[in-house]
Parts: sequence; C-alpha cells; structure tokens
Amino acid sequence: MRVLKFGGTSVGSVENIEKTIAIVANQAAQSPVAVVVSALGGVTDLLLKAGALAAKKEESYKDIFKEISQKHLSFTETLTGGDQKVLNEITLQMSHLEDLLKGIYLINELSPKTLDKLAAYGELTSSYIIAAAFEHKSIDASLKDSRELIITDANHTKAGVLYEITNQNITTYFAEKKAKITVLGGFIARTEAGDTSTLGRGGSDFTAAIIAAALDVEQLEIWTDVSGMFSANPKLVKQAKPIQEISYHEAMELSHFGAKVLYPPTIVPVLSKNIPIYIKNTMAPEEPGTRIGNQDIAHPNPIKGISHISDVALLTLEGAGMVGISGISKRLFEVLSQQQVNIILITQASSEHSICIGVMEADALRAKTAIETEFAYELSLHKIDPVIVETSLAIIALVGESMKSHQGISGKMFSTLGRNNVNIRAIAQGASEKNISAVIAEKDVKKALNSLHEVFFEGNRKQINLFVTGVGNVGAKLLEQINNQKQYLKEHLNLNIRVLGLSNSRKMLVSQDPIDLNNWEAQLDGGEKADILRFRESVINLNQRNSVFVDITANEPVAMAYEEYLRNSIAVVACNKIAAAGKQEYYANLKRLSRKYNAPFKFETNVGAGLPIIDTLQNLIASGDRITKVQAVLSGSLNFVFNNFKSGGSFYDVVQQAKEEGYTEPDPRIDLSGVDVARKILILARESGLELELEDIVNTPFLTKNNLESTDVPHFFETLKEDAAHFEKLVADATAAGKRLKYVAQLDNGKASVGLQSVGADSPFYNLEGSDNIVLFYTARYPEQPLIVKGAGAGGDVTASGLFSDIIRLR
Ligand code: ADP
Ligand code: ASP
Ligand code: MG
Repeated sequence: MRVLKFGGTSVGSVENIEKTIAIVANQAAQSPVAVVVSALGGVTDLLLKAGALAAKKEESYKDIFKEISQKHLSFTETLTGGDQKVLNEITLQMSHLEDLLKGIYLINELSPKTLDKLAAYGELTSSYIIAAAFEHKSIDASLKDSRELIITDANHTKAGVLYEITNQNITTYFAEKKAKITVLGGFIARTEAGDTSTLGRGGSDFTAAIIAAALDVEQLEIWTDVSGMFSANPKLVKQAKPIQEISYHEAMELSHFGAKVLYPPTIVPVLSKNIPIYIKNTMAPEEPGTRIGNQDIAHPNPIKGISHISDVALLTLEGAGMVGISGISKRLFEVLSQQQVNIILITQASSEHSICIGVMEADALRAKTAIETEFAYELSLHKIDPVIVETSLAIIALVGESMKSHQGISGKMFSTLGRNNVNIRAIAQGASEKNISAVIAEKDVKKALNSLHEVFFEGNRKQINLFVTGVGNVGAKLLEQINNQKQYLKEHLNLNIRVLGLSNSRKMLVSQDPIDLNNWEAQLDGGEKADILRFRESVINLNQRNSVFVDITANEPVAMAYEEYLRNSIAVVACNKIAAAGKQEYYANLKRLSRKYNAPFKFETNVGAGLPIIDTLQNLIASGDRITKVQAVLSGSLNFVFNNFKSGGSFYDVVQQAKEEGYTEPDPRIDLSGVDVARKILILARESGLELELEDIVNTPFLTKNNLESTDVPHFFETLKEDAAHFEKLVADATAAGKRLKYVAQLDNGKASVGLQSVGADSPFYNLEGSDNIVLFYTARYPEQPLIVKGAGAGGDVTASGLFSDIIRLR
C-alpha cells in the first residue's frame, strides 16, 4: 500500500485534478492507495481571510465567500458532469459555511476553535469533490472523513496528535474497508470532545505521514508543484536544482528553516518506521523528484540545501547585572514557553552579558511583554535593560549532515555575505552542526540565497550583473562584445555576465531580468527619462549580488555618484577619468571605500584605452617594486594628429578627422590643450603612490592663446584655421631638424609634466604610429631598460575591450 498526498496546486484547477486522477489510477492498478488531498488551491487562505473580515465586522467577507462558493460549484460542475447529488451536497456545505461566517460576523469574534471549524471546510469539500470526480470516471474510490480517524488534543489551529487512538482508528478502518482507492481530506482532525481541529498550516503533508506510519506502508509520496526538494526555494533561486536523495534529518532541518515544500512535523511519524518519502511533481510526474530516507548519503557537497524563514524578530536581553547570575536563561525560556512563543534561534555572548533570541515577528511583542514582566524586579534595579526588539529580519540557513567534517564552511558563508554587503545580525550553529544560520535583513534574502547558492552549488559559476551608463559609441561596442562572448565566458571562465541596467543621456532602464542584448536600443528607447541618482537608487534597490556600475560617460555628475555605489558594495568600472583624476581627496576616498566595502574600483581604460598600463603598474607596486620614472606618449588623439599632420597640410583638417573618427574627446580642446594627458599622468602618479593634484602637473601648451580662449567647439575649430601659420611652423621646424612631434608625459622624481616635444630617431617615441600609446616604466627592478607597454591607445573597440577586461578581472 502507498499513501499519496496532493497539495493545493495539484488540486487547484480542473486540469490538475485530471492529472492527479491519472497518477492515482495508474498506481492503484498495482497496489491500494490512500489519497490525501489539500483544499482546492488558495481556498484555505480565502477561508481565513473571510473569517478575519467577518470578525472585524467588514461586509466584504461576503465577496470572499462568493468566490469560495463559486469555485467549488464550478469545479463540481466540470468534474462530475453536473451530477445533481454532488452539487446538492456542495451547495449544502456552502450554506453551512455561510452560516458560520454570518455567526462570526454577528458575534464579532473568531476563537481558535471556530477558526478550525472554518478552515476545515477547504479539505472537507475538496475531498468530497475529488472522490466524486473518480466516480464520474468510473474509478472506484471511497471517501473517508479524516476527522473520524485522526484524534488530537484541543490545541486548536495546531493540534497535537493522540497517536495511540489515531493509529488504532486508521488500522481498523483500512483493515475492514480494503478499498483500492481511499480519498481523505488532509489537515483536518477531531478532538476527543468531538470538535473539529486542524494540524497547522501546510498540515496535509502531516495527515498523509500519520496514515502512512500507522499502516506501515512501503512509501509516502508528496505530490506538489515542484520536482522535489530543491537546493534552495526555486521561486527565489533560479539556479536551484532538485536534491535527488536526502536524509530525514537534513530534510527536517531544511523544512524547519523554511522549505515549505514539506511541513516539518511530517517526517516524525515515518522516520521511526523507516518509510521513504518521495517528493514528486504533479505537473511533471516523469521527473525523479526527491527521495527522503534514513541512509547517510555520501555526497560530494557537504551542503544539501539553503533555506530561509521570513518575518523574524530578534529580541536582546542584556544588562550588567546578568553576569554570573545563574538561572536567567532558564527563566527566560520558561516564560516564553508558557506564552507559547517558539524560539527559532539563540545566541549568547560568552560574557553572559547578553542573550539574543530569534522569534517570529508576530510573537515579538508578546514575548517582550512576557520577558519584561518576568524580569520586572531586575529591570527596576537596572540590573537588566528593557528588551530590545528588532524586526524586518530573516534567518538563512545552510543545511547538511556532513558539514561537521568540513572546515571553512561558515567562513565561506560569511565572507560571501560580506562581499555582497549583506549585514549579519546574529549567527547560530546547531550543536549537531547540521545547520549554520544567520540573521539578516529581510530585504537581503534573495541576494543572500542566490550568492550562497552560487558559491556552494554552482561549481563556482559566478554571475556578474552590469549596470551600464553611457551607451554611446564605446558602450554599444561593449554590449556587442559581451553579447558575442557570453557563451565562451560561461563555458571557459564559468562566468555568467548579465546586463540589468542601461542608461544614456536621455533614457534609462533597470530590470530584474537580463536585458536582451540583441535589441537593447529599442528597449532603452522605451525606458524612463534618464536621471543619474534615480538610476543609482534603482540599482541599489534591486540589490543583486556581484553588481557592477559601468561608467562610459565623460560626465562629472556621474563620476560624483560613485561613492554611494561603493558603499553598497557595488563595484565601479569607469572609462570616465574625472573621478580618478579629480581631487586627490575624492580619489583617495573612493579607494578607501572600495577596500572597506570590498567593491572593486577599476579604471584601466583611463590610460591607454585597452592597454594594460594601470594593471601593470599596480602589479609592480603590489609585488614590492618602486617606480622611479615614467615616460610616456599617452594621447591616442594627439598621436593621430601629429602623425597625420605634415608640413604643407591643414592642422584644422587633421583635427576634424581625428574628431570624426572618434579619436578625441567630444570636446577636442581637452586633448589638444594637454589636459587629457595631464589627467593620465596624474593617475599614473597616484597609482605609483604619490599624492598630487591636476594643478601640480606642469603643462606647457602648444596651442595659441587664441585657441585656448575659444568660447566653444565650433569657435575653437575657427581659431585653428586662423592660426594655421603657427602650426605650420611647429611641424616645419621639427621636420627641418630631422625630428618628429610627439606629445610626451613624464613623471620624474615626484614631478609630473606634459608637453609637445620634437624627438629624434634615437627616441623610443620616434616611430610610434597611428594612435598608438607607449609607456616606459623605470623602477627599482627595471633601472636601465624600462618595462615597456605599447599598442593601440585609442578607439572605440579597444576601449570597449579594456572595459570588458576590467569586468572580467572582477571574477
Ligand atoms: P503544496 O500546496 O503542494 O503543499 P506548498 O506550496 O506547500 O505546496 O510547497 C511547495 C512550494 O514550496 C514550492 O512551490 C516552493 O515555492 C516552496 N519551496 C520553498 N523551499 C523549497 C525547496 N527547498 N524546494 C522546493 N520547494 C520549496
Ligand atoms: N489547506 C491547508 C493549508 O493551506 C493544509 C495544506 O494544504 O497542507 O494550510
Ligand atoms: Mg504544503
């Protein structure tokens, strides 16, 4: 014999009830089955809601009653082909329910006993309808009212089972009846006095387990809406996978800590009889599901699952007078037990100065009052402080029996949470070491579950969530490169890069789900009006793990927004130089926040686009080297300009061309005045360990006063034409001397300078082509022959790939 339980979703639609019937009929062909059913999906919630409204004297309870009644009548109509006898019975039950609600409305009160009577209608009617549906299909099935079998104490809404009499009732009934299929409502029972009681929310699982154990059946099957017990709640963690096999203790621990798929008390009756439980999916019966059994299953992963409990409150009892006084915890726990407050978690500081307990939020106030009443005397003497209550918390727990033989799990758990800016309020590790739990803010639950799941279950596949601002030329190239590389990164680097946010100067878009990079332009066009701070707020509120803000603008307000990103442990990857080359104080603060909040701040593309210049410098410093001198040609744009500007040519035309081909900043004066190069050498100086401001860089301009005083970009271009002779002389003089013009940056002895130089054929800069950059690092280890980095230092593609490398370096 087998016991099969079908939950709310399995009996939540006519279509699913058909599936349920097919599964049962198939099994009944082999051996007799007891079928335990829940209320039709959502009905228990509706019943309780109607009751609560009626007790508050709100007429709207009638609307809910109508909804319940219509649902039952329409299910009956379809499943029994409008069988009049069944319709009459359901109509009668509904009129009893209506009377009960009316009574609650009139007396304005809802006792636990009445609550049970009310909630029981769900299973009473569902079992009746489902048994009739079997009959309608000419499948023999007898209906049994579980209240006649399961007897409990009078602890209404979560009654305790009286096993002796219950087991006897069950064995006697099934021995006599011997039906192939017996349909029973779950959840409902009866007290010794004959009142209807219930076994607690989700209790139909428990009903099935009680029957399974009493009859000592070969297996118990829990049919639900997911394909087993998952490594984490599949509704919150998309990557969660069904656990194939799990021990009773582990399953109990997971369900105690919130894995709703199994009602925690369910395991107790079947465990002693060693009856395996199978969790199966009614919607996908072919899937293997989960087997819960007695065996200690050797498993490569010491963690079996991660679960969480929401709506938790922390209560802290502390006071100088607590130290050394025995019996405080005893009194504390006693008074809470008298108040029937369930304690979910306990931590005590070793100083005995404080005890911290986790309870359900709904119990928090009652618990506080009870504790303060118990300790009124100590409170009056100020030996103990008033109880501190913190709410909006949740507990997350890692569960696995073999965790105890693996070191470092809690370290990994807490560092993962810390890295993702999830603040931990309290920690508890069960003495059995089957679980490690942490109290965190409710708002962080999803992020915490997903980041822990990634670390413990996804073979170190890491998800990186990007929020990209400034999707112009370079930005579009970056998105294209990410789109093309996505599969490779997954397969070879175990990296899942997702873009969740985009913004340009007009529109912005932040989304919970990845943005399809094949048509992001259209999606962004449909986004809301761009706003730097609102964008940041949405990114922070989305609260995704491994979040990265990518700044591809040249915009000052965007650069000023980094601090708050870093403070929320969101990494910043910037192409924008304004932050790293801004005030020394701002730069230093960003570096400090980056360290403090474990959020990388990367800006490789600030110098030499995609060339690994900053990375090389940082590696030299990190490995103990010391920079003595840097000589560099760092402006792709100025290189382009001076490589293309020949005696007799037009300086104006060459600068125009550089701008059109994307080699200059939007305002080319930033390049030609030397400011851009000054910023770059400033960044290299700072990364070498110096504290400098932009004003400290000696900048000798080659532009004329007329050029430098131009009012805007078009005007600037006009002045280039006006002063053509000046530029002709510069190039003619150099050519006459057999030299070439190069814009050189230097850092020597703590002093930095930039300016145009005529270099001879013996200079490493002489042959620099196109928009190439070159950097010569002279260091303690490279005193004579410098370490040289050279290559394409400007252009959309290389800049985008530089950004991409920064993102990949976050791994
Ligand atoms: P039923 O109505 O069939 O009893 P429940 O809603 O009580 O179903 O339980 C199934 C639900 O439990 C799933 O839909 C899922 O949202 C939730 N759940 C939470 N944690 C887990 C987990 N670790 N594995 C599977 N399901 C889980
Ligand atoms: N119908 C009850 C509830 O929703 C029992 C169950 O479905 O397990 O809590
Ligand atoms: Mg359930």
